[in-house]
Amino acid sequence: MRQITTANIIAIGTELLTPYRTDTNSLYLTARLNEIGIDVTSKSIVGDDVRDLERAVAAALDHADVVITSGGLGPTADDLTREAVSSVLGLTMTEDPALVEQLRERFARRKAVMPEINRRQAMVPRGATVLPNPRGSAPGLLIARGEQIIVLFPGPPRELEPMFVASVVDALSARTEGRRLRRRVIKIAGQPESKVDQVAAPIYSAFVDGVVPVATTILASPGQVELHVSARGVDIPAMDAQLDDVVGRLTAALGDSVFSTDGRAMEVVVGEALRARGLTIALAESCTGGLIAARLTEVPGSSAYVLGGVVSYANAVKHEQLGVAATTLQTYGAVSEQAAAEMATGVRERLRADVGLAVTGIAGPDGGSDEKPVGTVCFAVAGPGDALVTDRRVVPGDRQLIRAWSVMVALDLVRRAVR
Ligand code: AMP
Ligand code: MG
Repeated sequence: MRQITTANIIAIGTELLTPYRTDTNSLYLTARLNEIGIDVTSKSIVGDDVRDLERAVAAALDHADVVITSGGLGPTADDLTREAVSSVLGLTMTEDPALVEQLRERFARRKAVMPEINRRQAMVPRGATVLPNPRGSAPGLLIARGEQIIVLFPGPPRELEPMFVASVVDALSARTEGRRLRRRVIKIAGQPESKVDQVAAPIYSAFVDGVVPVATTILASPGQVELHVSARGVDIPAMDAQLDDVVGRLTAALGDSVFSTDGRAMEVVVGEALRARGLTIALAESCTGGLIAARLTEVPGSSAYVLGGVVSYANAVKHEQLGVAATTLQTYGAVSEQAAAEMATGVRERLRADVGLAVTGIAGPDGGSDEKPVGTVCFAVAGPGDALVTDRRVVPGDRQLIRAWSVMVALDLVRRAVR
């Protein structure tokens, strides 16, 4: 049989065409398909309308080896995916008695009687394979049509994701002749995208047409740049060796602003460093309003090193709760490296932590001046030991961006202080 290389995804549901719901299933599916060497060449979002669905399914079948739909397998009248796909493929549907029984049992386990409309979920196009859905009532369907494969999934991500892994990934990868995508992610803190690319491009461009071709893409988010380095092919040891080589060269050239090459996020890297050294941290946050505490405590087990923090937004709180001297606030202002240093030492002392981290800045849109424009943010890390580091940056963007940048810059200062 011919191998499969391309997929189209159709996300189905009128709610996905409103501003209130985002199609995330196609992102999940794309990641999984890429890993097994299948490219997504097109995707679409279609409302719950049978004609629109038929058109989308027919177009996808014209263009791709694999067509995957999500949504529209529920019991109600607006769930039309089965009907649309059967009609495009010219397949009749019959009720599967075993599925009806399973559905009844599912309801019975919850002491409920299955509503008759749920029988629709037991309708199976001729020749289709039923994909079990342990987390919901709508089973999935897999249909082979010549050399093409069509897969129908229910919409809820928590149902679709395990179903893809349990019932579909092997069937697809059996048809890709061992082709795989291997990807490495290098994460860089506190550097502009252009500067990263200036350093990285001469290195990665030398590998674009190598024996094992390597593709590199650059992605920026506030305070962080990611280099995604990938290779595709069948010789996985050769691909891994080539990626190791490229990642090693890039990491060496980019220096200590690289904080992770294995997918770990900044808060994980910082947390692991604190834990490894047996250190605790306390936070004094002004313009970030608790965002750093939130980020650090997203990591399970962070109670081992995060003691707590003070959201010291008002000067009175900086003074009374953290011990920032009134003269410091008068002489240098609340947004100053001096104030940040006293916030960091103050919170460290009062919470009896090994490390104190402080952030104070002007997130805007008001409050800027010539001397301290909007985006001016001062940072301090007190500890471990006698160390005290302060920094002042003018970070780009609007209020939300400035706060997001500040979180990354602050955590990166801690990373450097405790490594
Ligand atoms: P359905 O299978 O069409 O009944 O979808 C049920 C629910 O799954 C919807 O209300 C959404 O909350 C969710 N859902 C459907 N499609 C998607 C999608 N493409 N991405 C993320 N969530 C989805
Ligand atoms: Mg729906």
